[in-house]
Amino acid sequence: MSWWQTLCQELLDMLYPPRCASCALVGWEGWCKECADHIPYIPLPVCARCGTPIDPQRFCPFCLAQPPVPEAVRAVARYRGVVRAAIHRFKYEARPSLAPALAQLLVQGWQTPLTEPLHAAEAVLPLPIHSRRERERGFNQSLLLAREFCRNTGLPLLGNVLERVAYRQPQVGLGESERRDNVRDAFRVVQPQAIAGKSVLLLDDVWTTGSTLNEATRALLAAGARRVFAYTVAHEPLQTSASGY
Ligand SMILES: [Zn+2]
Ligand SMILES: [Zn+2]
Repeated sequence: MSWWQTLCQELLDMLYPPRCASCALVGWEGWCKECADHIPYIPLPVCARCGTPIDPQRFCPFCLAQPPVPEAVRAVARYRGVVRAAIHRFKYEARPSLAPALAQLLVQGWQTPLTEPLHAAEAVLPLPIHSRRERERGFNQSLLLAREFCRNTGLPLLGNVLERVAYRQPQVGLGESERRDNVRDAFRVVQPQAIAGKSVLLLDDVWTTGSTLNEATRALLAAGARRVFAYTVAHEPLQTSASGY
């Protein structure tokens, strides 16, 4: 979808009454009652490192073997059902007006023990997409989420610190090692002084294997960030790493 199609879509959305982010039911700001009742929240306890539900160990088997690079990763919900539908509409049907409904989940999760390990973060960095993809889509989904999230939590937003330098194929449909190769050296820190010595929170809509978050975290640590955490609306584990689901 091009930027002008996105714009037309947004203008059309503005002419009509609010709709549920997931099922598009008219008359609901955010989530309708039915969809809100079916949000697949990730239950506690979770792996201290990657936030995957486990019981009763502290780390899941995948983190014991190969932990993600961020100090801790958390997602509010599983990438399925009403949440998957809403993210799909947000990103692939290019409806930036759904950002508040999805960010609402991030804000809710921020008030629960699920995200406690991330609360040391002093600033928020949206995961950047390549400028070419941003032109195609008309917006960067993680920037819109981060704006809403920061407005509600009072955390400062660092929007132009991290840059995506490589334009590669989308990660969807790739296996774990292909994903790792696909994002290698994909990020550059353009304002290292903004993150030097700081603890930062990377924000995105969905994480799968963590290869994109890992690569962005490596770039931030190399540029002088003290600690890096990651937070997303949803987690979609690949089949091979789906122990807790
Ligand atoms: Zn609904
Ligand atoms: Zn884990």
